[in-house]
Amino acid sequence: MPEGDTIFRAAATLHRVFAGKVVTAFESVLPSLARVDATRPLAGRTIDSVTSRGKHMLMSFSGDLILHTHMRMNGSWHVYRTGERWRLPVRDMRIVVATSDAVAVGFNIPVAEFLTSGDLARHRQLQALGPDLLDPSFDRSAARARIRMLADQAIGDVLLNQRAIAGIGNVFKSEILFIAGIDPFTRVGDVDDDTLDRVIEIALKQLRANVAAQARSLAPTRGRRTTGSLHPDKGLWVYGRGGLPCRKCGATILSRKSGEDARLTYWCPRCQLSSS
Ligand SMILES: [Zn+2]
Repeated sequence: MPEGDTIFRAAATLHRVFAGKVVTAFESVLPSLARVDATRPLAGRTIDSVTSRGKHMLMSFSGDLILHTHMRMNGSWHVYRTGERWRLPVRDMRIVVATSDAVAVGFNIPVAEFLTSGDLARHRQLQALGPDLLDPSFDRSAARARIRMLADQAIGDVLLNQRAIAGIGNVFKSEILFIAGIDPFTRVGDVDDDTLDRVIEIALKQLRANVAAQARSLAPTRGRRTTGSLHPDKGLWVYGRGGLPCRKCGATILSRKSGEDARLTYWCPRCQLSSS
């Protein structure tokens, strides 16, 4: 599942390849996008920039048109040279933006819409996003205040709430709370300020380190790592390791479904305490 670091890297790659280029062809199987293209054609516009906000991606075109996409669980953007074979089947294609030498293909993208800059300024979901961990101007105290507003909820669920803090997905949630030594089901109200600040600091460090590692890697899909180990099987502390021994203390890693989407949470019952 794409998390903030993945979307940030994808946007940076798309920006590097496409910014300043002129669209030669646009195609979409999504009726709402095709309709806009019919009345306000994309071909001939320049791609000004591609940026991310949390897990949202914004591709801005000249003439005040912005393509907003969200990947949810399965969506992805690929970049190909013109004529290169796609790595996913054509039936999964949702959006194609072509220039003279490269093609951006959006596969299985569930959320996509065209916006004007005015629409963007009024966009309920985008404007409600919490501070973005990958934004250079990330505001620690604003993030803490937004997390504090959800005092009755479990810290694990709140870290996934993009309105509180943007960029963390399910893998990082479990890993960050293991590194911080906090039980994921602890109520936010039971976590003191110092501990909460430490969680935010760990989140910043982990997301930024993974962006940097993906930028250096020749195979960016090899996965996230939080342990500092370069061994392919030892990159994560707890995520996906239910039933296996904790890398620190040897206790059995537990897993449980929680939150709105019933996503799996992993934790070590010995290393992670319920209150600080
Ligand atoms: Zn442990």
